Amino acid sequence: MQHSDCIFCQIIRGEAPATMLYQDERAVAFRDIAPIAPVHVLIVPRLHIASAAEVTAEHAPLIGHLIAIAAHIARQQGIAERGYRLVTNVGREGGQAIFHLHWHLIGGRQLRGIG
Ligand code: AMP
Repeated sequence: MQHSDCIFCQIIRGEAPATMLYQDERAVAFRDIAPIAPVHVLIVPRLHIASAAEVTAEHAPLIGHLIAIAAHIARQQGIAERGYRLVTNVGREGGQAIFHLHWHLIGGRQLRGIG
């Protein structure tokens, strides 16, 4: 199920532009439009799930697949050895702005600890 007013659903359908790095039948990955590091990629399931708070046990294979894609892209982008951050924001106080589940893959510079 996809949502017509969701920007990530629009990107997935090819109706909005994005720099796409990876696509398969279950997920896509594209560059963040406002990167906070040299590598800032969003890993997004095609299925519209609002956030990690909506994830259920039946999504477990999909979530594992998203993490594997992140690891693949990190290797592809040359940051796997150096390390990176993989994070998903949940809800307004969690800093979530787009309510379509996604992981941020952030790296290519030294990141500070969270907090
Ligand atoms: P979050 O705050 O975790 O929901 O993250 C949303 C991210 O999506 C932000 O880092 C935005 O810069 C990014 N973003 C918003 N619109 C687009 C877009 N059209 N293409 C690529 N990235 C986007």
